[in-house]
Amino acid sequence: MFATLRVSAASAAAAVRPLARSIAELVWPPRCAGCREPVAAEPFCPVCEEALMPMASGCVRCGLPGPEPVCGACLASPPAFAAVRAGGLFGGPLADAVHALKYGDRPAIARPLGAWLAARVAIPEGAAILSIPLGRRRRIERGYDQAALLADELAAAAGRAGDRRRGVLVRIRETAPQVGRGRAERARNVRGAFWATCAVEGREVALVDDVVTTGATADAASRALLDAGAVRVTVLALARAE
Ligand SMILES: [Zn+2]
Ligand SMILES: [Zn+2]
Repeated sequence: MFATLRVSAASAAAAVRPLARSIAELVWPPRCAGCREPVAAEPFCPVCEEALMPMASGCVRCGLPGPEPVCGACLASPPAFAAVRAGGLFGGPLADAVHALKYGDRPAIARPLGAWLAARVAIPEGAAILSIPLGRRRRIERGYDQAALLADELAAAAGRAGDRRRGVLVRIRETAPQVGRGRAERARNVRGAFWATCAVEGREVALVDDVVTTGATADAASRALLDAGAVRVTVLALARAE
């Protein structure tokens, strides 16, 4: 009898959920992650979808668009990660979406953006899915860690929720924002800022972040993962900045 009750309670909850969602959509209709216009299907409206810039061919390591198979920076100093896979080039509606997720107090768009990314990048088979952690101070200020939310949603949309690991990679010191710094300065700023537990020992890692610019942060985080015994790190990002 209790089992029956439990089942009917569960099915009642399941029946209420779509209703709750449609009420929420009446009050807060889903909006484009780029221009904020109401949309039928998230994350992007047809106009923004059209304006997205797909990834261009370029460096096999850091994803920088260009004619060479490996860019000058990666040749001079190979990064700790094996590759960067991004949903598109940073700019236009995708930049607006990253900005909204990061600074616009719109953590809810992590879900459609995670699904969008899952449709565009392959998560390496068997990889543990981690994210580049925010510093504690900024996480408290913002109220959420956007890369962690994105990694949750990417993993769920790809049917890989079981591979999602939280708390494995940590920031051991606060770093100043990377915005406005040059390549060398960015590398210095984040060097030694991360530490990883041995949970990644012998495992391949998919490391999620919202945007990759010079790759300095991803490099420092990947180094910590390799030091902890990870066999290979692939960076997955919404956008690759040129
Ligand atoms: Zn739009
Ligand atoms: Zn490169």
